[in-house]
Amino acid sequence: TKESGRNHYQFYNPQMGVEIAENFTLENQLHQAVKNGEMILHYQPQINIKTGQVYGLEALIRWKSPQLGLIKPGKFIPLAEKTGLILPMGEWVLKTACQQNKKWQQMGLPPVIISVNLSAQQLQQPNLIETVENTLESVGLDPKWLELEVTESMLMKNITIAKKTLQELREMGVYISMDDFGTGYSSLGYLKKFPFDTLKIDQSFVKELNQSSQDLHIISAIMTLSRGFNLRVIAEGVENQEQLKLLKELNCEEMQGYLFSRPLSSEDVLKYLIGFQKQ
Ligand code: C2E
Ligand code: CA
Ligand code: CA
Ligand code: CA
Repeated sequence: TKESGRNHYQFYNPQMGVEIAENFTLENQLHQAVKNGEMILHYQPQINIKTGQVYGLEALIRWKSPQLGLIKPGKFIPLAEKTGLILPMGEWVLKTACQQNKKWQQMGLPPVIISVNLSAQQLQQPNLIETVENTLESVGLDPKWLELEVTESMLMKNITIAKKTLQELREMGVYISMDDFGTGYSSLGYLKKFPFDTLKIDQSFVKELNQSSQDLHIISAIMTLSRGFNLRVIAEGVENQEQLKLLKELNCEEMQGYLFSRPLSSEDVLKYLIGFQKQ
């Protein structure tokens, strides 16, 4: 009914009612969680296997709920998107990730690029550029240490706005990465339309690499394309030595996955980076 609030929930059948009720309480909890500072970031290292260096860290949000435990983003990002909560949440992620990266630099660690996932709604915000600019300035982080990850479906929503925004961000000196590359409908056309620096090969192509000659051919084609477009390529979801070996043979130099490290808390990143330095 109209009175049930700004989400305009309508109860069509009892089963749906149950789902809606669950979502509604989750929505309330999520609101509180953001307010109470229950969101945390984990960071997953991105390795260049040729140089043996950590060149980046991807910031991945988690909800540390006192009642429910550690909750992965798949469980609450869709709801945050639907309710608009993704906007304050996204700003918090950007700021926290940049601050953390600055902190590591001030500790004297070798500088790395911090990768932040954008959401569809953030990309449609006219003030995104200003938000990024202000955040970098207030934190004192050079734009070249920030990368923003977008997916194809986010770009599709409004191609004109997305293109203009990404171009301006890039002019600012921020890197732009296409996440989950190869899974959308127009990935190839988008390479021409949008100013990417990096392609992230979707995990689905890496997963069965040792059994699938098709995946091998797809990744090989992506590598060829990337050279033509002068793009960096990173393979996601690398879990075992076989995958590593095959990716190496395909001349893919940058990788992210459980084989190297799971996403880590900021404290564990510190240990990881210091350990890496000593090697
Ligand atoms: P994504 O951007 O594609 O992130 C990669 C996901 O793969 C992460 O899941 C990561 O933990 C997982 N992963 C990394 N290495 C491996 C591996 O070797 N094997 C397997 N099986 N998985 C691996 P996570 O952290 O649960 O995040 C899921 C999705 O939630 C992300 O997918 C991203 O779309 C979204 N997300 C995460 N953090 C944020 C955020 O701060 N903002 C927004 N808008 N979305 C976020
Ligand atoms: Ca990502
Ligand atoms: Ca991805
Ligand atoms: Ca994904």
